[in-house]
Amino acid sequence: MIDDETPVLDNHLHLDPDNHRGIDAVSDFARLGGTHLLVVNKPSWNLGVEAETGEDFRPVFERTLEIVEAANEELEGRAWPVLGVHPGLISRLVDDRGYDADDAREIMQGGIDVAAEYVANGEALALKSGRPHYEVDDAVWEASNAVMHRAFERGAELDCAVQLHAEASEEMTEVTNWAEDAGLPAHRVVKHYAGGRLEGPIPSVMSEKDRLEVAAERGEPFLMETDYVDDPDRPGAVLGPKTVPRRVAWMLENGLDDAVRIAHVETPKTVYGIDTVETLERP
Ligand SMILES: [Zn+2]
Repeated sequence: MIDDETPVLDNHLHLDPDNHRGIDAVSDFARLGGTHLLVVNKPSWNLGVEAETGEDFRPVFERTLEIVEAANEELEGRAWPVLGVHPGLISRLVDDRGYDADDAREIMQGGIDVAAEYVANGEALALKSGRPHYEVDDAVWEASNAVMHRAFERGAELDCAVQLHAEASEEMTEVTNWAEDAGLPAHRVVKHYAGGRLEGPIPSVMSEKDRLEVAAERGEPFLMETDYVDDPDRPGAVLGPKTVPRRVAWMLENGLDDAVRIAHVETPKTVYGIDTVETLERP
């Protein structure tokens, strides 16, 4: 069982109070023992925003800040926003809206710059970037890597973490080398939707038992997530909001206490500089 002193962090989920469950998902998470959340803005087009400049992302980010504020009311710990640009946007811009890869890059880098403003003024915790997880042509791949570079540069300036959405891989040291060249230490780079094993970025492990067993066995820093999308059109797309607390209870029952401490206390501190113990107030 999860005791009163154990923080439980879902490192990557989305909340959509306008179209789906929103804060009810947070209540479910909290009821099962979840305490802390990193809430990532939904892809801009899911909010009906067809960005033409970086400034156009601002309403998407503002809505995320409002959701996080509401989530804070529900949690015994707290929630933080992670803001950025979904790498899949480049395909919408190039394939559906007729931009060339360079113009798409510029729009997306502009979005990263605006997200960085929120980190700079203390309203957001970290940045979100990455590159397509599917096959794209060379121009789109290069443009995507350039967007990710911009996120690393801003992360380095702000000393904040960058969450990446990227292709499935267990070896991404090339990417963390780019981050380090930009001045961002590898331990501030997180790959979301990860398996249990990853060289380079810190893996944010999808909370399925087999992946968690691998991560626990490895004994290296890792985080846990659901990538809950809170989307009425994709109800079973990913894991539900109760999954992380359920898996933590399962890990504790199976003697994986060290892994729970790594994923919910030590790694959040290393990556984001957040203290999940100090920010936890159980009634
Ligand atoms: Zn996500």
